[in-house]
Amino acid sequence: MKKISIAIDGPSAAGKSTIAKMVAKKENFIYIDTGAMYRSVAFYCIKNHIDLNDEQAVEQAISNIQIRLTADNKVYLNDEDVSLQIRTDEVSLGASCVSKYQAVRTFLVDEQRKMAETGNVILDGRDIGTVVLPHADLKIYQIASVETRAKRRYLENKERGLEADLETIKKEIEQRDYQDMHRAISPLKKADDAIELDTSNMTLEEVVDQVLTLINKTREE
Ligand code: C5P
Repeated sequence: MKKISIAIDGPSAAGKSTIAKMVAKKENFIYIDTGAMYRSVAFYCIKNHIDLNDEQAVEQAISNIQIRLTADNKVYLNDEDVSLQIRTDEVSLGASCVSKYQAVRTFLVDEQRKMAETGNVILDGRDIGTVVLPHADLKIYQIASVETRAKRRYLENKERGLEADLETIKKEIEQRDYQDMHRAISPLKKADDAIELDTSNMTLEEVVDQVLTLINKTREE
């Protein structure tokens, strides 16, 4: 069977990674969580007291950073498991800050393209369909209302044992959406050939089914 690549883009907390993980498991695809990579860069800087607003300092830090994503969806930063530590609100906003720097994007996009060469892959992020894999076989732009997204993230954080306050989460999501859509380099936008999927009133299973149908259609093309 032909190897295919799937790009899922969309605003923060739209449920992209949950869907991508479920689809990857069902279809035996490799899942690449590109947001986790930007989060890892931010986490490294925060941990090493590097000012996130100092572009040069962040650029210098990159040469000390190695990120590894494993098949069981763990994130390793220089061989340390940071899977949980990169999920805090501070790191979310930090990731949105460092992701506007060209050097950070060049470094991570290179890594992502190398990882995507391996075969059947599903990547989620902000610029997958527009920049990382402009020739992806299937592009999905997953959206949901900000209320739905905040509620989902709130429940997710609680489940992970992280601090959770609905209003704070909503503000953080809105701030990140704004920053990600308005940055000069690779801003979040729907690729012309992406299929928009509004999941506000859909269950997880319905979204997964819809994506599986789209994959099957892509295979037939
Ligand atoms: O997807 P996630 O919420 O984990 O991403 C964290 C941040 O990383 C985003 O708010 C965005 O600024 C950045 N990001 C990006 N490009 C990607 C993935 C994430 O700029 N492909």
